[in-house]
Amino acid sequence: MEKQKGKLFVISGSSGVGKGTLLKLLLQNNPHINLSISVTTRHPRRGEIDGVNYFFTTEEDFLNSVENNEFLEWAEFNGNFYGTKQAYVEKTLAKGEDLILEIETRGALQIKQKLADAILIFILPPSIEELEKRLRGRNTEDETAIRNRLKEAFREIECSKDYDYRIVNDNLEKALEELQSIISYK
Ligand code: 5GP
Repeated sequence: MEKQKGKLFVISGSSGVGKGTLLKLLLQNNPHINLSISVTTRHPRRGEIDGVNYFFTTEEDFLNSVENNEFLEWAEFNGNFYGTKQAYVEKTLAKGEDLILEIETRGALQIKQKLADAILIFILPPSIEELEKRLRGRNTEDETAIRNRLKEAFREIECSKDYDYRIVNDNLEKALEELQSIISYK
């Protein structure tokens, strides 16, 4: 009998929405689910490790991979390239293992076009005001950067209308429960 393929979940949500915390808890509770490691041309942030957080690469290498059709999806975000390697996704799903991609909306919608079975989940902030408050609370960026992030957040929320599920993260426990029930649904 042919082995049942794994499920592919795509999770997006603007920065400041608590997506990282949610994902971390979800993966702790579901150690059988794989998290895809993306390729990016962005420079590593402090504490980030090559091959763990991302595969960090040069623009030249990234564009070579685009040329060679190695990406299932890729996009430019904030002046950097990000992409998901097709071979890894295919191999994982073929083994019958579930996989999560944590990517932005342009890439997510490319996935939906190529793999109709992919399940797209968008994490929403309780409100734009709350998102702005969270971004400002980080105290790590200047006014222009915060404005840009908010503009990007509006664009992404608009795109999320094409997602299968939207979860509002106003209460971490509740949001995690919703996410868990989507992931566990057979
Ligand atoms: P950051 O630079 O903050 O790690 O990520 C910036 C954005 O790029 C986030 O929205 C993240 O979800 C997205 N991203 C990370 N990896 C990929 C990828 O492989 N493809 C796409 N399309 N977006 C990605």
